[in-house]
Amino acid sequence: MKVSVVVPLYNEEENVPELYTRLKTSLEALPNEYEILFVDDGSSDSTPVILDKIRTTDKKVTVINFRRNFGQTAAFAAGFDHAEGDVIITMDGDLQNDPADISKLLELIKDNDIVSGWRRSRKDPFMSRRLPSMLANWLISRVTGVPLHDYGCSMKAYKSDVVKNIRLYGEMHRFIPAVAKWYGVRVAEVETVHHPRLRGKSKYGISRTVRVILDLITVKFLLSFSTRPLQFFGPFGLISAASGFLISLYLTIEKIISGTDIGGRPLLLLGALLIIVGVQIIGMGLLGEMVVRVYHEAQKKPIYVIRRINGDEAQ
Ligand code: UDP
Ligand code: MG
Repeated sequence: MKVSVVVPLYNEEENVPELYTRLKTSLEALPNEYEILFVDDGSSDSTPVILDKIRTTDKKVTVINFRRNFGQTAAFAAGFDHAEGDVIITMDGDLQNDPADISKLLELIKDNDIVSGWRRSRKDPFMSRRLPSMLANWLISRVTGVPLHDYGCSMKAYKSDVVKNIRLYGEMHRFIPAVAKWYGVRVAEVETVHHPRLRGKSKYGISRTVRVILDLITVKFLLSFSTRPLQFFGPFGLISAASGFLISLYLTIEKIISGTDIGGRPLLLLGALLIIVGVQIIGMGLLGEMVVRVYHEAQKKPIYVIRRINGDEAQ
């Protein structure tokens, strides 16, 4: 079982040297073959220079340099695309995660497809980081139905075939376990050590929570309705159009029976509006159905995932 360690780095010049030596110590102690992928996310400090030095002395290190800063999720995605291991470990490059925990993750990945770290005693500021992430974790586990304590922990282990099948966007790396659950994977959680950031600055603040919540809405929608958008939009459209129809019917009957003038009635406006909105919502669902077909067919993406055929592991 070969292990690939993926580390995103954005302006971490103070941390890279120690990170590298500690990673090396932990990995050399393992029986596994391994590689390290450092993804330089468009750093403007000397991170790329330090990485190049490491790369020339160590064949097990691969360095990927982005042209500009694309964000942590993109850095993970690039690492996944270039990793050659059977198991991929991700972790932060600021030494807040501890390379010594890698062996713990590897122990559990044998019987699981994803092992997620849990920073039980997290060493980050309370108001700006821990409180919003407590709320976000609660919300994500309720909405996605994958009961983890700490989605945001970068320290995770994945079977490589699981992660290579998932496309990542936005801040979505934290939703990999939730998305992967759709693929029917086994997810486990293990407590990992967390250290305060000793050097360099944190790249994120409270604004990240908003992006995470918006991504959660996307993920929930994609997971629940991505293959059948009309089932999602349809009921709203039908209810709207049907109530509009009933209102208009009532007005028409009243006009016929008692001959009253209905032209100035607010109800008429409401009825017409509900019909138009209803038709449009159903139209949106139908458009969605077409988009979904294009999406799946263009990628030749099946709507199911196979684990084994005739007992052989499927890729
Ligand atoms: N990071 C990155 N691109 C970015 C922001 C951060 O690759 O745009 C890396 C960063 O170098 C670190 C990891 O992602 O290795 C976590 O970042 P940070 O420590 O700032 O986040 P926090 O621990 O505060 O959530
Ligand atoms: Mg950090």
